[in-house]
Amino acid sequence: MEVQCPQCGAGVNVIEGQTFLTCEYCSSAIYIDKSQVVFHFMLDPTIDQPNAEASLKRWMAGSKTVKGLDKEVVVTKTEFIYFPIWYFKLMQNGDEVIKIQPASPTPIPDIKELSIPAGNLRFYNEDDDGNTAIQEPHVLYSSAVEWLLSEGVGVPDITQSAMVHIPLYIFHYKYKDDLYYAVVDGVSSKVMTAEFPSKSELPYLVVGGGATALFFVEGMVLKFPEVLAVYIVTALIVILAATLVAEKV
Ligand SMILES: [Zn+2]
Repeated sequence: MEVQCPQCGAGVNVIEGQTFLTCEYCSSAIYIDKSQVVFHFMLDPTIDQPNAEASLKRWMAGSKTVKGLDKEVVVTKTEFIYFPIWYFKLMQNGDEVIKIQPASPTPIPDIKELSIPAGNLRFYNEDDDGNTAIQEPHVLYSSAVEWLLSEGVGVPDITQSAMVHIPLYIFHYKYKDDLYYAVVDGVSSKVMTAEFPSKSELPYLVVGGGATALFFVEGMVLKFPEVLAVYIVTALIVILAATLVAEKV
């Protein structure tokens, strides 16, 4: 079987079932899907595992997660993978746009929003053969294109497609008795996750609801101007309660 190199157009011989290969004329790395022959790139990490974990801890100490998560958490397992994505270069209204679609099932929707610095891409090469961190794609090129179409992209808009393996650190961790995991991008150090111990919103709702009820009742019972003084005192109490909740939750 022979396929056409997407770079130089030469015919390259392929053995049945072979998916990764290098063009013998221009040395481009090629990925062969059932329906498409595309470039095959690797994106190497720019941060190491301790940096990735530090980024995770900063995120855990942030405002989205439950208080004290960064201190109480136990990291049980860390993995490093090269996750496969379909990378599309598009022309939209005269501008070049990059879109990506996961090439393997993932519960992390944020992967599609990652930015891939084009300057950091390098061709897959023979040193990568046998690297167990490299995950095989499971999503066909045609499916990825269909997803793009459903997002309003037209096929003629696609000017280049590639298979890219991106570096991800996966941290499995335990909080209280539950297990979670988070993914850290090995380039931007962005933290991505599906489920995590989030801040409980109930105490805030109780304070907010209580405040509304108090103001309402006071407004019904009292008249101007004494209602003003009572409003001020109530507002101070509400602020105090909200501060206490913010410290505890
Ligand atoms: Zn070539």
